[in-house]
Amino acid sequence: MKPVKRVVIAGGGTAGWLAAALLTRQIGKLVEVTLIESDEIGTVGVGESTIPTVRAFHTLLGIDEQDFVRETGATFKLGISFEGWSQPDSRYIHSFGTLGTSTWMADFHHFWLEARAQGSNAELGAYCVEHEAARAERFAGRPETKLNYAYHFDAARYARFLRERCEADGLTRIEGRITRAERDPETGDIAAVVMADGSRIESDLFIDCTGFRALLIGDALGVPYEDWSHWLPTNRALAVQTAAVGPAVPYTRATAHDAGWQWRIPLQHRVGNGIVYCSDHLSDDAAHQRLLGAVQGKVLTDPRLIRFQTGRRAKAWEHNCVALSLAGGFVEPLESTSIHLIMIALTRLLQLFPFDGVNAPAAARFNDMSRREIEGVRDFIVLHYHLNQRNEPFWRAHREASLPDSLAQRIALFAESAQAFQASDELFTVTSWVQVMLGQELHPAGHNRVARLMPPGRLKEVLGNLSGQVGATVAKLPPHQAFVDRMVAPDPVPLRARA
Ligand SMILES: Cc1cc2nc3c(=O)[nH]c(=O)nc-3n(C[C@H](O)[C@H](O)[C@H](O)COP(=O)(O)OP(=O)(O)OC[C@H]3O[C@@H](n4cnc5c(N)ncnc54)[C@H](O)[C@@H]3O)c2cc1C
Repeated sequence: MKPVKRVVIAGGGTAGWLAAALLTRQIGKLVEVTLIESDEIGTVGVGESTIPTVRAFHTLLGIDEQDFVRETGATFKLGISFEGWSQPDSRYIHSFGTLGTSTWMADFHHFWLEARAQGSNAELGAYCVEHEAARAERFAGRPETKLNYAYHFDAARYARFLRERCEADGLTRIEGRITRAERDPETGDIAAVVMADGSRIESDLFIDCTGFRALLIGDALGVPYEDWSHWLPTNRALAVQTAAVGPAVPYTRATAHDAGWQWRIPLQHRVGNGIVYCSDHLSDDAAHQRLLGAVQGKVLTDPRLIRFQTGRRAKAWEHNCVALSLAGGFVEPLESTSIHLIMIALTRLLQLFPFDGVNAPAAARFNDMSRREIEGVRDFIVLHYHLNQRNEPFWRAHREASLPDSLAQRIALFAESAQAFQASDELFTVTSWVQVMLGQELHPAGHNRVARLMPPGRLKEVLGNLSGQVGATVAKLPPHQAFVDRMVAPDPVPLRARA
């Protein structure tokens, strides 16, 4: 085996720069890292909403939150508001918090279901601080609060922010177009990439971050793409930026329309908007009109069409090439999971890093974990589409389509007994599954009856105390926009939650 001393990252989108940032900072003294990007080709230009795991990754990169928020135009995110997903006028928030207090025998929602059965009309969200803070558009960061939060950020500024850090840490950046990859005739490994000017760049390990082009994992190595469009048929997005017209809310909005859905991501300096749709049900022209008809504020950019196919590469790591993000697979951005999948793949790559030479067992382990993660995300997204009660042909087809077995079993379990679970390698928590299943009006036939063992009146009292505490905590939080304004002010005074 040939020791890995050089790593070439092909592509400078969010995936490429995150890879460069982690590698240079964590193992830059052991391997030489080079990133190649093409200004002429550019990046996909979207991907601005995240989930809370981003904060742990930023800690690995030594990122100061205030620097990050200032330089990337970031705002804070406590969840996603799903509008029109069950019925056209319905709304629920999938928040990042934890619901109430669970016991070893039953998760909190079983107690809530029992209280409902006994006549309570309190909403489930009343027992979750992040949910109520999102609804009230309030926010304060850590350490003053224990809110579980993520960010919205400007993707172009984020790439620049990461690039500056990487270059300070000694990364070599090459601007230019890769035309092809050369393979070693004996091993089949990628030996070098060949640039448009004829130069060759050799490496021991290549990270394919070339986006949907998948130049290395797809074109050079021929790893097939597993198509999931029978489960998730949306295949187009149109993205446009608009000026902000009001205070930024601490959540992403995902509003369903008759052939897909529309996102709204509030940043400090603008709003990111986009429409996701299925081309069998909506033409590009109609999507264009619908998007521009629905946005608020001055339109700042031309709408940009992005074509995609939901699915994944059969292997993310093949020979001496590891594919990240769009090059390795894509599940539509409904739950903002792609950037998380880049980050988790990178932490895993460093844990399995083939310092002594690329080896098949490490690749197999990496591939197995990547597969399970993205399948878990896929099931969670399919759930949102499946549990709808809308009447348009697009939605009826989703309701009637077959499900991955793993998801069908999970839905049946919840429908019968309100049981939800998070397997050890799964991203989404019980709270997430429960918020979406109940939010989309999957009302379970039964639940764990352990709450009936409580003395008369005790369940009501406990739930009342819990929602009272949640309400009191939220009332002390400043408005989200005010918190952001203070954080980015030239001479910032942190705006804290009131004691
Ligand atoms: C519509 C849509 C909305 C999304 N929203 C979200 C979201 O809210 N949250 C989230 O987590 N994720 C989201 N994603 C996913 C997210 O955008 C990506 O995970 C992220 O941007 C990473 O993309 P990338 O770096 O793989 O590809 P890209 O951004 O496409 O970058 C590819 C890079 O490769 C370079 N390149 C390509 N070919 C060559 C060549 N021949 N030579 C040299 N360089 C080359 C390009 O110049 C570029 O630098 C969304 C995706 C889509 C399609």
